[in-house]
Parts: sequence; structure tokens; C-alpha cells
Amino acid sequence: MTAGVHLRAGSVQPVWAGHPWVFAQAIERLSGAPQAGDEVLLYDPRGNALGRGYYSPGSALPVRLLTRDPEEALDGAFFRRRLTAALALRRALGLPRADTTGYRAVNAEGDGLAGLVVDVYGAVACVQFLTAGMKAREELVLDAVSEVTGATAVVEVPSGPAQRPEGIVSPGGLRRGAAEGLVFLENGVPWALGLPGTDEGGQKTGYYFDQRDNRARVASLARGGRVLDAFSYVGGFGLTAALGGAREVLCVDSGARAVEVGQRRVEALELTDRVRFTRGDVFKVLEALDREDRYDVVVLDPPKLARSAREVPRALERYRATVGAGARRVASGGWLVACSCSGSVDAVAFQRAVASGLRDAGREGSLVSLSGAGGDHPVPVAFPEAAYLKCATVRVW
Ligand code: SAH
Repeated sequence: MTAGVHLRAGSVQPVWAGHPWVFAQAIERLSGAPQAGDEVLLYDPRGNALGRGYYSPGSALPVRLLTRDPEEALDGAFFRRRLTAALALRRALGLPRADTTGYRAVNAEGDGLAGLVVDVYGAVACVQFLTAGMKAREELVLDAVSEVTGATAVVEVPSGPAQRPEGIVSPGGLRRGAAEGLVFLENGVPWALGLPGTDEGGQKTGYYFDQRDNRARVASLARGGRVLDAFSYVGGFGLTAALGGAREVLCVDSGARAVEVGQRRVEALELTDRVRFTRGDVFKVLEALDREDRYDVVVLDPPKLARSAREVPRALERYRATVGAGARRVASGGWLVACSCSGSVDAVAFQRAVASGLRDAGREGSLVSLSGAGGDHPVPVAFPEAAYLKCATVRVW
């Protein structure tokens, strides 16, 4: 008998409408004593089965639905079906293609695989397990990823603080095949990064694919101009702009590894005459710039500033301050590209924070687009908060 998770009356609507998450407060009772990682059936108060998922007792989200068909087995064939559908979606969007061989192949809930993220870097697939249940089936999942993606190596990304409530503590590392590093193209830019879980490895799975389309837009706006890539990490925006014909690029990040890796890329791509990395706090670096030092494009891509609804007001103040500092550096007729990767900050609130920051800087501007992540980061239609990335492109007068 599969164990059961029974919802309270009044807590069914979001799940019924298509949201895959079950919050702890929504649960009335359990049946069959499920343990961490066990498969469970989700029931409404009348006893109708709503679908299946894995149980995570220590989490604020004890269940994330994997299927709405109570009869569907969560076995190897299930994983292969979902992975095949996920890759078909990417192919329909033209991924991979000649100039882009790195992309997100599985975006958890958005691909019906809550608890699993897979990023493809050329011949290497990097896997993140985000729920106890997914981690408990890792061998099954790794086999399916290896088979369906055809990757010559599959690497597990080391677990972080977010996985602790799920009881996942893993150093990550090579799990299938062999690989030296992550070698891939994005918008024609050749990247070579260390494997996650090794001393050479970077943040997350190694690179942030969600900004791919926004990087291409920045590169086209930056042709012939000066670019400031603030919160650059390894220089995704800056290097794309430089290869796209920007005259001069300054990348700023506080991370020693990020700057070191970025600098090495600049040397490998023979861009040392046009691209510079500075390690430091963006606010201090911006403040220390000459008053007259203006850029045709200023990109601001800070880390996640709000992890929960409670942190939103403070995060909005920080977005405002970031935009204020960045907008002062934009040349007249230039571009400000301000991003937020906080899912709990909605697009309207973010746009208002950008407006306040511009005003603080004494600048005026027109919003030409408010974009999000690329199509390889799909989300369930009924789960709008999952579309975390916002990227405001502003023409500054
Ligand atoms: N723009 C990047 C991703 C940025 S992720 C890309 O396109 O890939 C956010 C980055 O901000 C991280 O690399 C982190 O090291 C850096 N960071 C966080 N706080 C910072 C600060 N105060 N000053 C400079 N960099 C900061």
C-alpha cells in the first residue's frame, strides 16, 4: 500500500489548479507512516487521489507532485519519458544549436520533475538533486539522464544549504563516464569551466544559463560601446558583449574564483586589450569610478536578495540602491539592464524599485523590455512564482 498524505479542507484549490507544491500547513494527516523519500499518494479531504510525489518530512514542502495520474508508476520508464519530453521541448526551441551547446535540460517542476535539475554542457550533464525522494532514486535518475541525453559524463552538483532540510548532504562529483571540465558554447562564446564538486568548480552547476537570451540582447546593444558588467560572476554578459563587438568591458564581482576564472577566459579568448575584471564590492567599485566615467551599457545582476516573502521589502530597497548606483554610470542615451533572480519579488514591484533607483540617480528612462529566463527554464503555468528571473532593459535619456 502506498502511503498517503491527506490535505486539509480549504487547501486543495492551488494543487487542483495545477500548482505542484504541498505546504506543510496544508496537510491534515498522514496514512501508512511514510518515511523520508517514500513515494506517497496525495488525497483531498474526500479521499480522491490527486497524484503522486515523494515525501520530505523535514521540509516546508513535504510533497511536490510528480504526476497527477494516481496510477502512474514513478519508475525508470517514468524518468525516461519525462526526460525525453524535456529534451524534445528544448529541441523545439532550437537547443542545442551550432553556437549554443550549453543549456538547461530539466527545470524541475517546469518539466514535471520536481526535485531534479539537469544542465547540459556540451558532452557533460550536471545533475542537482533537490528532494529526499529524488536523491533516494539517484541511480535510476543518473542512468536515465545518461541514456536520454547521451552525455559522455554525468556529474552530481554538491549539495548546498537549500538541500539540508531534505536531508541531502553530498560532496557531488563524477557519477557516470569521464570528463575533465565543462566545455561548451553559448551565443558563440566558447566557455571552459571546472567540474562542479572539484576545486575548479564554480557556483550552482557551473554557469547560469537562464540569462542566455538577455546576454545576446546586451551584446547587440553594446556593439562599439563601453560595458560595465556588475555582479559578473565569470563574465557571462561581459564576454558575450566583447565577442559581439563591444569596445571596452569592465566586469566586477566580489568572488575571487569568479574573477580568476573570468580573467583566464579573457586571456584564452585574446580579449585582454578590451576586457578587464575587478574583484570587489560593486557599490565600492562604482563609487570609486571617476565621476565622468560613463558606460553605454550597465548590467546589474545581483545574487538572490529575497529568499522568502518576509525578505521582500528589504530586497526591494537593495534593488533600488543597486539601480541608483548603476544608473549614475550610464551615458546619456545608454542602456541600464537591471536583473532580479528573487522569485518572491514580482515583476511589478521590481519595476517600481528600478524606477525609484533611477529617480535617486536623477535620471529618466524608458523601459523597452522586461524579460525573463530563456525557454529552457519552463515553469508550470499555475506556478507563476517559479518564473524568478526579471530583466529590465531601460533606455536612459
Ligand atoms: N551575471 C552573472 C551571474 C551573477 S550571480 C552571469 O551572467 O553569469 C551574482 C554574482 O554576484 C555572484 O558571482 C557573486 O559573487 C556576486 N556578488 C554578490 N554580492 C556582490 C557584491 N556586493 N559586489 C560584487 N559582486 C557581488
